[in-house]
This record gives sequence, C-alpha cells and structure tokens, in this order.
Amino acid sequence: MSRVAYVNGSYVPHGEAAVHIEDRGYQFADGVYEVCEVRGSRLVDETRHVDRLERSLKELRIAMPMGRGPLGVVLRETVRRNRVRNGLVYLQVTRGVARRDHAFPKPGTPPALVVTAKSIDFAKNDATAAKGVKVISLPDNRWERVDIKSVGLLPNCLAKQAAREAGAYEAWLVDDEGNVTEGSSTNAWIITKDGVLVTRFADNGILKGITRTTLFDLCKRENIRIEERPFTIAEAQNAKEAFLSSATTIVMPIVEIDGRPVGNGMPGQIATELRSKFHEVAEIK
Ligand code: PLP
Repeated sequence: MSRVAYVNGSYVPHGEAAVHIEDRGYQFADGVYEVCEVRGSRLVDETRHVDRLERSLKELRIAMPMGRGPLGVVLRETVRRNRVRNGLVYLQVTRGVARRDHAFPKPGTPPALVVTAKSIDFAKNDATAAKGVKVISLPDNRWERVDIKSVGLLPNCLAKQAAREAGAYEAWLVDDEGNVTEGSSTNAWIITKDGVLVTRFADNGILKGITRTTLFDLCKRENIRIEERPFTIAEAQNAKEAFLSSATTIVMPIVEIDGRPVGNGMPGQIATELRSKFHEVAEIK
C-alpha cells in the first residue's frame, strides 16, 4: 500500500513528499511537532495534543498553520488515506520558508505544516509490555525548554541510540542533581512499596506528556495516589515497579534499570493494569 503525506496544502505520495531546502525546520530545527495515537482509525486525546501544539507554537511565536477544526480534518484525512487502523499520526509545524537568517522571517511568512501517518502492530507492543523493557541512564544534556515539543531532538536521538546499542529500550535522563527527568521520548515513573506513583513534576525540565496527563485522570478514577517529585536511579532500582509512558507505548513496564532488576524483575501489576485500562479514560474520537 502506498503511503501519502500532507505537505502544505496537498496530499502527495510519501516517496515524493518534500519541503524547501530553506524551510526553517530543516535549517534551524525551528519548529514543533505532535504525535497522536490512532486506535480503530480514531484519534486518542486529540484535544490535549492540539492544546499542547498551540502552547508549543505560542512559546516560539509561530502561528497555528490553520484552525483546530481544519487541522482535525487533515489529521483524519491523512489517517484515512494511509488506511491506518492502529498506529500514529505525526504532525510538524515550522516557522516556514525564508532566506537563511537566524532572526525570524518577515511577519506574514506562512508556517509550514506536514502530516504523516503510519500503522503500528499493537499486538507486538503488547507482547513487549508483557515481557517488560530495560532502560539505561544517561546525563540529561538538553536545553532548558524541553517543555516545548520542539523538533530539535539531537540529544534525544543520541540517547536513544546509546540505549539501543546497550540492548535497552529507552534511556532515562538524569539531571545535575542526580534526579531522573524523563526518557528520551517518554515520561518516567516509579511505584513505591506503598503503591504510590511517582513522576517528576512538569516544569520546563520535562515534556508534559499527554499520556502522563491522562494517566493522572485514570489514577484519580482508580484511587491511586500520585506524587510529583524527583527520584534517583537508586530509588527507581529499589522501587516496587517502574514504567514509562508515551502516546505510542501507552504504559510500558520496566524490568531492569542499568542492569539491575526492578521489583521481582517482571512487569509490575499496577503498571500492567494501568496499561490495560488507559483507553477507558482517554478521549477517542
Ligand atoms: N517526553 C519526551 C521527551 C517525549 O518526546 C515524549 C513523546 O514524544 C514524551 C515525554 C511523552 O509524551 P506523550 O505522552 O504526549 O506522547
């Protein structure tokens, strides 16, 4: 099946989809993105993802490329044209095309919008979750505004690659105080011996995951306590459970951190339950 991409107003064959060489996303990483899970051909938590998109754009003073309504139409049309039943839809907005100059282009330069969609084998993800995954820790050497979902992801790519080369699924990033901030593309969680979920507070030092926010809703429903506070790798290694979260991994149990087993070295019961119940509270439309 041939894939299709949306590029600045047109649906084009994926293999021919291209942006201008002076697109500021290409030259300066001057843009932001969102990733939304697609489940049963519907979008999961679209409202929160578009809210965060608007916030990221506002922080960088980039205009929304179109209204929320038309954007929802483009997202769904891209999903439909790619016949994605289960998978993800990716959108990227940059400050547009302009003659290369670090300072912003002249007012009125239209932002650029690209949307792609791809299928994911959810059964395979479930099989991975049933076994649990390993993480390694690395220093968090990113800039101070990682709350903005910017396409400037080089430190994240280097961290993910280091994890892959170490046979791990994810790298947990550790700040100067020795506390875990988040993963290279996921939020980080532990569960204490008392069954309390712990995840770092969401300031400028982490991306406030949409999955994270929806998990807060689920925990409220399930009467599970959450503490937003820093934690160290040592505390995580000694925790009852650990897991990571993101739009495409949902809740992924962690069974090993830096070579040491977490809990009994098996996926935890609470993480596994949160994974199975997540879509009962998420917006799906
Ligand atoms: N943290 C980082 C650095 C990410 O890149 C992502 C997702 O891409 C997340 C956390 C999880 O966010 P979400 O749950 O919105 O997918």
